[in-house]
Amino acid sequence: AQAALFQAQKMEAVGQLTGGVAHDFNNLLTIIVNSLDLLSRNTRDARDMRLIESAQHAAQRGAKLTQQLLAFSRRQPLQPALHNPNTLIEGFEAILRRACGELVGMQLSLAPRIRPVSVDGPQFEAALLNLIVNARDAMPEGGELKIATANVTLSEADRASSGLEPGHYISVTVEDTGSGMTPEVLSRVFEPFFTTKDVGKGTGLGLSQVYGFVTQSGGHIKIESTPGRGTSVVLLLPAQNDGEETVDDEGDTARPAR
Ligand code: ADP
Repeated sequence: AQAALFQAQKMEAVGQLTGGVAHDFNNLLTIIVNSLDLLSRNTRDARDMRLIESAQHAAQRGAKLTQQLLAFSRRQPLQPALHNPNTLIEGFEAILRRACGELVGMQLSLAPRIRPVSVDGPQFEAALLNLIVNARDAMPEGGELKIATANVTLSEADRASSGLEPGHYISVTVEDTGSGMTPEVLSRVFEPFFTTKDVGKGTGLGLSQVYGFVTQSGGHIKIESTPGRGTSVVLLLPAQNDGEETVDDEGDTARPAR
């Protein structure tokens, strides 16, 4: 619990810092983008036009990075709506499969009667994509990737490890048979810009986005990893608790965990 508290405080501090920088940076980028737009309208010269276009491209990439940072640092409010998590995943399946590449087998294991969750749909999809890209990158020679959903009930006893209130949650688990991580890497993965990937391959913002999304949605993220064997990422998201619809297979809604 102590380590979890320390981790939360560290992320809070990093979030404050990057959020402030990203916010100012975003304002500056807006000025650059607007100026480039004006320039491009008044330019006839083809060579100037190419220069303007490459500057516009760079500005767009910068804007994407600051978006990710703002999402992480909670400067950008989420727009939650009620979703069936299985439907969200299935609707996004084709993109996820493409991201996996040819060498990685992707398996979906979606729990029946999954409880609905109130989340920002696009941010949920972005989080999933970030996790799948990481899993794929950890399996350059190929391997197995599994995405699973489940209904989860947390009790008072779970509070210490997750920091979450007792109640109904859903879990989304992304498991790979890749390189895994050392404890040193694992302890830093949520930090923005922390990456072990080559320059140009990783931004170090993937898991920061996932962390920001999950915690802002009232959930919790847990990663277990064994070097040489693989990694399992579990997202817990608070489930909507609305009577009949959410009854589980035993027909019991209020059963405490175990
Ligand atoms: P990026 O993918 O751009 O490096 P992330 O924040 O998504 O940024 O990940 C940070 C680092 O965490 C990665 O560079 C990698 O070292 C490690 N990592 C994340 N996911 C996995 C995984 N599934 N298997 C092994 N290492 C991982």
